[in-house]
Amino acid sequence: MNITELQQIDAAHHLHPFTNQADINRKGTRVISHAEGAYIFEANGHKLLDGMSGLWCCNLGYTQPRINQAIAAQLEELPYYNTFFQCTHPRAAELAKAISDRAPEHLNRVFFTNSGSEANDSVIRLIHRYWDGKGHPQRKAIIARQNAYHGSTIGGASLGGMGFMHEQFETLGNIHHIAQPYWYGANTELSPEEFGLYTARELEKKIQELGEDKVAAFIAEPIQGAGGVIIPPDSYWPEIQRICDRYGILLVVDEVIFGFGRTGHWFASQFYNISPDFIIFAKGVTNGFQPLGGVMVSDRVSDVLLSHSNDLAHGFTYSGHPVACAAALTTLEILSEGYIDKVRTELTQAMEDYWLALADHPLVGEARCKGLVGALELVKDKSSRERFAGNGRAGTVCRDSSLQSGLVMRATGDTMIIAPPFILDRSHVKDLTERAWQALDLAQ
Ligand code: PLP
Repeated sequence: MNITELQQIDAAHHLHPFTNQADINRKGTRVISHAEGAYIFEANGHKLLDGMSGLWCCNLGYTQPRINQAIAAQLEELPYYNTFFQCTHPRAAELAKAISDRAPEHLNRVFFTNSGSEANDSVIRLIHRYWDGKGHPQRKAIIARQNAYHGSTIGGASLGGMGFMHEQFETLGNIHHIAQPYWYGANTELSPEEFGLYTARELEKKIQELGEDKVAAFIAEPIQGAGGVIIPPDSYWPEIQRICDRYGILLVVDEVIFGFGRTGHWFASQFYNISPDFIIFAKGVTNGFQPLGGVMVSDRVSDVLLSHSNDLAHGFTYSGHPVACAAALTTLEILSEGYIDKVRTELTQAMEDYWLALADHPLVGEARCKGLVGALELVKDKSSRERFAGNGRAGTVCRDSSLQSGLVMRATGDTMIIAPPFILDRSHVKDLTERAWQALDLAQ
């Protein structure tokens, strides 16, 4: 079948996620035919350096024969069995231990899901169950942040703080959103550290407003990813931790993007020295080769969850799917062979040396990075931080010019994002930055 026929079939039958059908009708779809290492290839032969690791998930790139072999071997040994009703299988148990061994010391249990969205839905269930078990069933309010992304199921999207998503469905009740620590966007007189404290204290204000005996949990991404790689000032997380501890509310850190190495630590909670009650994970756990997500649970929460005398009435047919678990076990094994250290040292340094220099480009108001993730804020005027008219149009233009330059970047409004795979080296980061510069030139 030729590319045009394929695009026609796709346009006629495929309902795409996060896609405007009018764009498909106008411009057609980009058909990705194959991938190798850090590169993807379009069916028309165009080769692109994948600066987004797929959707922030193929952290070890696309060529990992050991993961493929683990998947194939598992299909032979046990292609499916469930983990309901007192059943387990070797890969689910091994993976739960392997993840616990790498997580902060006090998180030792894992509930498996198929995705990050399901994990965030599940954590709502676990939070309610925890407070019921503690004898405080009135504690049901969950505080989250504006512009957060926690997935697109009803629960995940309700926890998320994206207005354009909320406009399309009726959100769950009793979820309350506070400001994000977006210092550049706030264009404030406060220093970043003062602003970090100021936004963290929004949590305390919200707890007091709702009544501390009503609040169950606070959920946040360690660095907001899809919202534009919003890196909190250093003062932010210690203050959030202090407030959660002071009011005894559960802290959920959604590490779907940052878990498994992107900050140069297994989990960003370790990087920021946060002590969460739950960590949400997905994406990089299998290098994106199989769908798998989950909720890691702290010992103090597990103790309460396990004290209930009735069943936990929650789970998915594919919770702990053996093939996905096999892919994850091998992914963790490969990541353990120096990749996390490489992100923390060589690649973090390369990003600071090259990516941050993009701030000199006339279109860039701020270039920021942490570990192996980066963002550029496109502005019309650097000193006033005035944006371009057209709500993200500059970002769309830059995304298109980036593809012309052979680099996949993502646009979130007028913020350009990259999250490249860990298999790159310093020279690739230089190359990637040069392509980004070229894309910015073309977008001017
Ligand atoms: N949480 C965060 C922080 C995410 O970035 C995402 C996806 O991008 C999700 C949850 C949802 O994960 P999934 O798409 O696997 O449902």
